Amino acid sequence: MGQQEVDQAWQTANKGNNTSPSSGKKGNFASSALMPNYARLPVAFVRGQGTRLWDDSGREYLDFISGIGVNNLGHCPPAVVAAVQEQVTQLIHTSNLYRVPLQEQLAQRLVDTCFADRVFFCNSGAEANEAAIKLVRRYTQERDKGHKRAQSGRYEIITTINSFHGRTMATLTATGQDKVQRGYEPLLPGFRYVPFNNIEAVAKAITPQTAAIMVEPIQGESGVVIPADDYLPALRALADQHGLLLVLDEVQTGLGRTGRLWCHQWSSITPDIMTIAKSLASGLPMGACLAREEVARVFSPGSHGSTFGGTPLVSAAALATLHMLLDQGVIASVNEKGAYLLSRLQQLQQRHEMIRSVRGRGLMLAVELNSPAEEILSVCLSRGLLLSCQMGTILRFLPPLTLSQEEMDQAVAILDGVLTDSF
Ligand SMILES: *Cc1c(COP(=O)(O)O)cnc(C)c1O
Repeated sequence: MGQQEVDQAWQTANKGNNTSPSSGKKGNFASSALMPNYARLPVAFVRGQGTRLWDDSGREYLDFISGIGVNNLGHCPPAVVAAVQEQVTQLIHTSNLYRVPLQEQLAQRLVDTCFADRVFFCNSGAEANEAAIKLVRRYTQERDKGHKRAQSGRYEIITTINSFHGRTMATLTATGQDKVQRGYEPLLPGFRYVPFNNIEAVAKAITPQTAAIMVEPIQGESGVVIPADDYLPALRALADQHGLLLVLDEVQTGLGRTGRLWCHQWSSITPDIMTIAKSLASGLPMGACLAREEVARVFSPGSHGSTFGGTPLVSAAALATLHMLLDQGVIASVNEKGAYLLSRLQQLQQRHEMIRSVRGRGLMLAVELNSPAEEILSVCLSRGLLLSCQMGTILRFLPPLTLSQEEMDQAVAILDGVLTDSF
């Protein structure tokens, strides 16, 4: 595939907007009053159903990125639509000055699925991680009060290189990526970075100041990086040995994406704190920070809060989402579908030298190329398949958990065609 075809594909998708990837003006829409902080692809969707999206000219697309792992039940899942339609006519918002019964029901539903005893609701993954970081600091300070250790002032959190935890000042500092942090110095004090999937590096980074270890069970934004099976258990052991909290960022891996409700449930361990967001309310904004009782109780009245956290409307959407995932068998099908898609992608690897590796767990998958993936992504878009490009050479797949085998076959056929026509 030459640059010309890429530009042509771009322009087809772009319909009249004469920017192209090679013009270096991607996302630079002069007509828009939006801040230029996103490199948007030149396509606008107006309708979605299940795994499919339609753009403003009626073209159909297969959505294998699901709004970055948000539309896990597909677009406009009927049960969630009905719950939102019902709730929006009853009560949208009251604030957390008062009890919110739907929020309490949702918290109970969540703690019934895992190690946690308590939940704090917010509106995004970054806010969930911000809450986790604040909880680590406050818990550690209260616990160490009166101890000799208090003098050492434990507050450091060990995170990993190429992690992603969000864009607020605390969470971009937690994120071990220069491109996320550049230009925002001075960063928040108290973070140390170690290579992912390397236990010795964590052990070496522990100091008298360390309060917690915070990781994603599988790194998502850096291209579906799956650690060894003994990584989480070894982190748990280190945390126990040194009196540290273990925080798991399950914002992307949670809610059935990897074939279990929570990714860490593939291992034998439990964290002290877990953060979730993305698909929690099927596209309405919601994040949550879950913790064990002993840790959660340091969030006394007035110590943290969110105006919008856990509104009746968003809680109703999340309850309907969990009902679909857990009671209607959606999660139960993820492993089989994931295994099928992985095997189809492995078949592609045998036929295309351009593919360096294929990996995944459940329906969180990646195809790593030997060359830049941006062009492949644009041509896939022009042929009706949505993926995302991570770290320059990795195509990431986060399709709806509800997709069909036929849709997987169609997506693989499109990618096969694009790779065949490339060089
Ligand atoms: C997306 C993501 C976040 C940030 O979530 P926002 O809702 O964009 O703030 C944090 N951690 C992980 C692992 C994510 O994938």
